[in-house]
Amino acid sequence: MSAVGLPLWLLAELTYRCPLQCPYCSNPLEYAQIKHELSTEQWCNVFEQARAMGAAQLGFSGGEPLVRQDLDVLIEHAHQLGFYTNLITSGIGLTEDKIARFKHAGLDHIQISFQASDPVVNDALAGSKHAFQHKLEMAKLVKKYDYSMVLNFVIHRHNIEQIAEMIELSIALGADSVELAVCQFYGWAKLNRQGLLPTQDQLRLAEEITQQYRDKLQQENSACKLIFVVPDYYETRPKPCMDGWGKVFLTIAPDGMALPCHAARQLPIQFPYVQKQTLQQIWYQSTGFNYFRGDAWMPEPCQSCDEKEKDYGGCRCQAFMLTGKAENTDPVCSKSVHHEVILEAQQQAENQITIEQLTARNSRNSKSFISVINVQ
Ligand code: SF4
Ligand code: SF4
Repeated sequence: MSAVGLPLWLLAELTYRCPLQCPYCSNPLEYAQIKHELSTEQWCNVFEQARAMGAAQLGFSGGEPLVRQDLDVLIEHAHQLGFYTNLITSGIGLTEDKIARFKHAGLDHIQISFQASDPVVNDALAGSKHAFQHKLEMAKLVKKYDYSMVLNFVIHRHNIEQIAEMIELSIALGADSVELAVCQFYGWAKLNRQGLLPTQDQLRLAEEITQQYRDKLQQENSACKLIFVVPDYYETRPKPCMDGWGKVFLTIAPDGMALPCHAARQLPIQFPYVQKQTLQQIWYQSTGFNYFRGDAWMPEPCQSCDEKEKDYGGCRCQAFMLTGKAENTDPVCSKSVHHEVILEAQQQAENQITIEQLTARNSRNSKSFISVINVQ
């Protein structure tokens, strides 16, 4: 038990409800069937337990966390417990009054996501006519109230050529850092991958442009940081997913399911609920959290590989989604016998698929997806 780390990073997915419809959303495809949400008291209890176990950072996420009417109560409670708190939002539902109230409640940090640097592409991807304008106004207000602000752009084939404009916009809005994160292919992004994965040439150019801006910002002594996150589909080694299974990250889903990562719900593993077990029991003793700790579970080639301490065999969700078995080597690794599925996905990045052809993340599509699963 002593070898198990502390759950330093708590992600509270307060709800799966969201007014937007991003086709790359990482929420589960069948989110519409999950209607129950933890109450204010239950969330506060989770925060208390996590803090007592050593958790220091708390992200409020979703769905769109702003649809929870008790958000300022949750922020205040987390702040009083001593958490560093971060609101991860689309900005839709934010108002000046809320920004001021959250500040008063002790919120440290706000991350606003944009779908693109121009209103047409942004609003087409978000499935909402006035989303871009509202995000702009909210980002200005977030800085007016002196928050630390991250602007997040999920990058894919339909907006990657706007990278310079995204950076310019972020600088103009006074962002402290900018996350240019190429889609990670889970949930709805996996469903739409053929229409989202950029080509290698697009990626190379986007990274070059980002580096030029980094150099320029450094010359100007700007404190704005540019973070470019690449998809591992163009790598030959996988990422050390979540810095290791059940090592640092603890996610609580809206209905109280505890997960080692927000995508793990799809795995054929029974994960515990905070309504039924304490966080202490969940973190240290539950089958779900111990499932991929250590390396005894690893098959070859990972088991005898001298890189297994670096990447832990990659992402279990990716292995499950792309090979059908969560124990398999992540197929991103060139040593995996399934690596050809990654090469096929790279070729599909040349396909012509429009924004309109992507499947929007909304409850109608989610429900139809559930019925497909049930019929099969
Ligand atoms: S990615 Fe888009 S649809 Fe998904 S929760 Fe965030 S804003 Fe909503
Ligand atoms: S074989 Fe397994 S441990 Fe080795 S590099 Fe590939 S994924 Fe990592």
